Formats: sequence, structure tokens, C-alpha cells
Amino acid sequence: MSGKAFFIDTTVCIGCRGCQVACKQWNQLPATKTENWGNYQNPKDLSYYTYKVVRFQEHIGPDSKPVWYFFPDQCRHCLEPACKEAADEVVRGGIVIDDQTGAVLYTDKLKKVNAEDITESCPFNIPKAQKGTGRLAKCTMCVDRVHHGLLPACVKTCPTGAMNFGDREKMVALAKKRLREVKSKHPNAVVTGLDDLRVFYLLVDKPEKYYRFASVDIAPRGMDRKMALRKIGKSLKELSKESKIVRRMVG
Ligand code: SF4
Ligand code: SF4
Ligand code: SF4
Repeated sequence: MSGKAFFIDTTVCIGCRGCQVACKQWNQLPATKTENWGNYQNPKDLSYYTYKVVRFQEHIGPDSKPVWYFFPDQCRHCLEPACKEAADEVVRGGIVIDDQTGAVLYTDKLKKVNAEDITESCPFNIPKAQKGTGRLAKCTMCVDRVHHGLLPACVKTCPTGAMNFGDREKMVALAKKRLREVKSKHPNAVVTGLDDLRVFYLLVDKPEKYYRFASVDIAPRGMDRKMALRKIGKSLKELSKESKIVRRMVG
């Protein structure tokens, strides 16, 4: 498997939000109104104008002292993206996979698809619609930079090495190496997404303690009813086409 990937090492993330600001700057996204919602994290969620948000969670550590868990959230650029599957049912080319990097990219053709069908299809709750127009947006993997040999803006800006980016195989190896290194201090540490995503997180505790959608089982057994029905419908359509072709061949 080729293409690119991110390895996000949350053990060295300090929650500075440099990545979040860099994403806004490179993509020329306007600021959004924030509010005090009882958490240092701001804004509260991703939006049409925010492709990356550093999520903050405060817990009590094993030594009874408070600890912060930071989770830089963004599109996982799934190897088999459910959002693309949903879009393909309405219009081919609404969501495409970039040959060079494997980035999952939204195109203008996506206007023809009901935004809710796409937002609901994503297991990580990533794509967001623009109020009024229903247009959708999310992280682009900064393919406009990567195609010119540059790092994604969020990776370039990260001061601690929490954000890493490169060939997928190299990122897998780096993630596994870091996992081995932190295991003695953090026996519950895990790396998420190695099998099916292009964004891997090193977490030292249960993923749900970082964020509800930090890690989601996207294997078939984790499929919800809507996804299952959609898949069945697609297969039935294909079977019907195949049956017509076979009948023509034998007729
Ligand atoms: S994380 Fe969601 S929006 Fe991103 S590629 Fe996967 S399904 Fe699509
Ligand atoms: S890769 Fe680019 S678009 Fe995606 S989160 Fe990083 S800066 Fe934003
Ligand atoms: S720039 Fe790096 S250290 Fe700062 S919040 Fe983002 S990932 Fe964490």
C-alpha cells in the first residue's frame, strides 16, 4: 500500500494549537466566533471553516494529579472512505482519492449530494456543511503543498514533533517504534488506524478518554443499519445490472 499518512504522537502534544491556526492560515479560512463552554478547547467542534481542532480533555492521573489529554482532530483519509461510498451512489467524482497521496478530496460535484448523507456516513464525524448552502468541507491533507514537496501546514508548524507526515509505510514504522518506546511507562498505550486509515494516533489511555470519535471500529461488524442498507442496495443494483448482461449473453 502506498501514498502518504500522518502519525500524530499525542504523548508530545502540548495543546498549543499551532497546527489549528496554521490550517486556518494556509487554507485562508475565516475565524469563527468562539464561546466559553467550560473547556479550554475552542472552537467546540470542526466546521465548514475549521478543518482541524485540538480537543482538550482533563482527567485525574494515576498520581491523583490532573492530566490533560490533547487530541488534534482531522479527517482520517480512510483507505475505504464511507463518505466516498455515500457520494458515489449519487454522483461519480463528488469525492475522489488523490493518486499520489491517497488523500480523500471533495469536489464541486458534491453539490449534487445531500450534505446530511455525507456527514452521517463518516464514522469520525468529520465533514461539516456550510449553513445556507449545504456545501461540505474538511481537511484536504494539504495536497496543494504536498504535491510541491512541502509538508502539510499543520505538520510544518508543530513545534514538538507531535505531527508527523510522510510515506505511509514510514509512518507505520515510526508509530510502532514510538509505541514500543512508551509501553514501559504507559502499558495501556495504543496506536489507532494502522490497518485502515491514513492518520494514526498514539494514545496512552482508552481512546474514548480523549474524544468520543478518537477511535471507531469501521470494520463490517461496526457498520450501522443505514450503512448496511446502503451497501445492500448497491449490491442489489449491481446484481440486477449483471443479470441483464448475463441474459443478453445467453439470449
Ligand atoms: S474520516 Fe470521514 S470524511 Fe474523512 S475520509 Fe474517512 S469517512 Fe471521509
Ligand atoms: S493537512 Fe492541511 S488541511 Fe488537513 S488539517 Fe493539516 S493543515 Fe489542515
Ligand atoms: S501544533 Fe503540535 S503540539 Fe501544538 S497542538 Fe498541534 S499537534 Fe499539539
